[in-house]
Amino acid sequence: MAQETIFSKIIRREIPADILYQDDLVTAFRDINPRAPTHILIVPNVLIPTVNDVEPEHELALGRLFTVARKLAAEAGIAENGYRLIMNCNQHGGQEVYHIHMHLVGGKALGAMVA
Ligand code: IMP
Repeated sequence: MAQETIFSKIIRREIPADILYQDDLVTAFRDINPRAPTHILIVPNVLIPTVNDVEPEHELALGRLFTVARKLAAEAGIAENGYRLIMNCNQHGGQEVYHIHMHLVGGKALGAMVA
C-alpha cells in the first residue's frame, strides 16, 4: 500500500492549510512555498503516488482537477491573462510529494515552458 504524505493529512483537515476548495473527489489549497502570486495545489482525495500509478478508475477525480483549476483561476482573476498547470512525476520530473497534485501557477508572465 502506498505511503501517505502530508497531503492526506491536509485533505482530512488534520493539519492546517489554506484550503480554497474541497468536494468528494478533490481538495485545493495554497502552496506553502508559492513561486508566483497565485500558486495553488489541486489534489485528488484518494492517494495516487505518481502519474505512473493512474488507473481508469481515477479518471473522474483527475478530470475534476481541471474543472476546479478552471474555477479557481477565474476566482483568482488570472483566467484572462493565463496560467500554467503542472504535474511533476518522479525524480527527474522534480516531484517532492508522492501524492499526485496539479500546480495552478499564475499571476505573472511565466515565459515559455522550460525543461
Ligand atoms: P512537487 O515538487 O510537484 O511534488 O510539489 C510539491 C509542492 O508541495 C511544493 O511546491 C511544496 O511547496 C508544496 N508543499 C509541501 N508541503 C506542503 C504543505 O504542507 N502545504 C502546502 N504545500 C506544500
